[in-house]
Amino acid sequence: MSRYWSPLVHRLTPYVPGEQPKLPRLIKLNTNENPFPPSPRVVAAISDELANSAEALRLYPDPNADRLKEAIAARYATAGISGRQVFVGNGSDEVLAHTFAALLNHLSPILFPDITYSFYPVYCALYDIDYRTVPLNEQFEICLDDYRQPNGGIIFANPNAPTGGLLSLPAIENLLAAWQDSVVVIDEAYIDFGGESAIPLVNRFPNLLVVHTLSKSRSLAGLRVGYAVGNEELIEALERVKNSFNSYPLDRLALVGAIAALADERHFEKTRRAVIDSREQLRQDLLALGFEVLPSAANFIFVRHPRHDACEISVLLRQQGIIVRHFKLPRIEQFLRITIGTTAECQGLVAALSEILGQSLSPQ
Ligand SMILES: *Cc1c(COP(=O)(O)O)cnc(C)c1O
Repeated sequence: MSRYWSPLVHRLTPYVPGEQPKLPRLIKLNTNENPFPPSPRVVAAISDELANSAEALRLYPDPNADRLKEAIAARYATAGISGRQVFVGNGSDEVLAHTFAALLNHLSPILFPDITYSFYPVYCALYDIDYRTVPLNEQFEICLDDYRQPNGGIIFANPNAPTGGLLSLPAIENLLAAWQDSVVVIDEAYIDFGGESAIPLVNRFPNLLVVHTLSKSRSLAGLRVGYAVGNEELIEALERVKNSFNSYPLDRLALVGAIAALADERHFEKTRRAVIDSREQLRQDLLALGFEVLPSAANFIFVRHPRHDACEISVLLRQQGIIVRHFKLPRIEQFLRITIGTTAECQGLVAALSEILGQSLSPQ
């Protein structure tokens, strides 16, 4: 607290990201990064850009990121997406922040699940947006019928985080058809690990905005690139906010790196497959240890043990150099969110867990 702070700052409760430890050799399964490196083409493109020393870092990047938008549109050409229907930002967190300011700030409260990406209420506080949470059902699934109530906008993650649960495209289409008066934002950060994107619906529903990131399925969390696809009217709103905030959110290296990543479909397919296979193996191994494992279409799983306390398990794992995510939040405090690692990392986790569960832990 300080008398120099604005009243807004006094009211903020910022998002707390998962730990990025400075220690080497940890098995890091806490922030849903991809365990595989990005496409070698990304590194090559960034090196090429840097080799062009006359221009590389001296000149500002393209404020409109036109080449990147065209590359993203090309990927969804069969859905009839053009570059003018694409918005890019410094990570999808920035895209989401602008979305809250530009499209989700109306008179009525917006709706999102009670258990979802915990950045959403943080943006609401920053922009002074009223919201109502809609509870997941007993199976921790989103029920879209519950969103058919007056609202100033709807946002949910699909697959949801931190549960991993997936909604089908027909269910989403039903909601969009029934509710055309407010903007529906779908955060598809994890869609490439097992879901079907709603981007093909964009040209039929002018109120739909789909948000993606290169952080998870393209292994580029460190480069900070996210994007949104939607009707031109929605995109223009995002551009207005962005151009009132920062004209150059993506630097030259991020622009060329992102374009190179999107061009390497083989690497994408290979690594995405490997993560999915690893997820199914880990699921089996944890079921064998007695965990309940929620169905996941993401690069993480959400698990609880009927007899052992989640927080205690996470502390004991940490002592063995393995970090997973535990949220001290209502309804989910007995769950752990575990990012899918390489086969070796997952085996290390399973070995540590079977040792921990063999010890006498206090019951929940
Ligand atoms: C990881 C994540 C993001 C943010 O990704 P960045 O592009 O790295 O900012 C957004 N939404 C959800 C649900 C996520 O899990």
